[in-house]
Amino acid sequence: GRSLGEIIRQGERSFSFEFFPPKDDAGETQLWDAIRALEPYNPTFVSVTYGAGGSTRDKTVAITGRIARETSMVPMAHLTCVGHTRDELEGILDLYIAEGVYHVLALRGDPQEGPRADWTPTEGGLNYALDLVELARSRGDFRVGVAAFPEGHPGADSLDVDADRLVAKANAGAEFAVTQMFFRASDYFDLVDRVRERGVDMPILPGIMPILNLSAIRRQGELIGTSVPDEIVERITAAGPEPEKVRAEGIKIAAELCEDLLDGGAPGLHFYTLNRSKATLEIFEALRITV
Ligand code: FAD
Repeated sequence: GRSLGEIIRQGERSFSFEFFPPKDDAGETQLWDAIRALEPYNPTFVSVTYGAGGSTRDKTVAITGRIARETSMVPMAHLTCVGHTRDELEGILDLYIAEGVYHVLALRGDPQEGPRADWTPTEGGLNYALDLVELARSRGDFRVGVAAFPEGHPGADSLDVDADRLVAKANAGAEFAVTQMFFRASDYFDLVDRVRERGVDMPILPGIMPILNLSAIRRQGELIGTSVPDEIVERITAAGPEPEKVRAEGIKIAAELCEDLLDGGAPGLHFYTLNRSKATLEIFEALRITV
């Protein structure tokens, strides 16, 4: 049979890389090293997150604009409702157009209290990602993506309500979704089933985060509603204590998840790179994906 690498290379599946705006010059160098190292793989798109904290916000515009101008890749800019008025969001969308950035991931973002807290929207701002999907669609010729949650968003009362929210974003004009990190392929496929049952066929790209540091991932998972299954905790724990062996097991687990996802019909893979190319390239090696 063909390798997964061949299937992706032949354009049958999407793959993409996510970056975040760095805080300083060293981070900027690291980001561009990662972008340049991954560019030869010819991803479908690369995305840059939008800092809800504030300090890195205009950097998303600058970095996606530079990717559009100076690389061969299609940039996707994340944008969040949090902390902005509608006028400001319109201004940022106009900046993206001016920079040649036409793909936007429309998100609510998280207030400082985190995703679980009751959300007090900005005065004159938007309440939900859904509203931002509509705004982007009306403001320009944008291709709009949205967030999806295989284990449900922590603020949704049930997985069915969560799927209803995602479907509403699709019906408002979102063309694709990217998922939060998750570690069970069945959680992803169950989400896809819930969305299909509601008559929506939007592609849902699974977000892949290798576990290189178990306690960091568990802490982050706690916040965002992603659980690390016991069998994965056991495998990683058994691989240790040497950090290289833990890392290798984390890469192996991520590669297995990628295989299960593609075998089961996922339309692609979206890698959370954390602005480094190494782990993603190790997963690629395991999947026999080459330049
Ligand atoms: P929404 O779709 O607005 O949903 C938020 C909550 O509101 C959910 O609980 C939903 O069930 C509920 N809800 C929706 N509609 C209604 C309604 N009509 N009535 C009542 N409740 C409703 N954050 C950043 O700050 N910057 C980023 O760049 C960023 N990138 C991300 C990329 C991906 C792929 C993912 C998965 C998340 C990202 N996030 C980012 C985090 C995201 O902002 C949070 O997960 C946030 O809590 C939810 O965003 P959302 O777009 O799903 O919001």
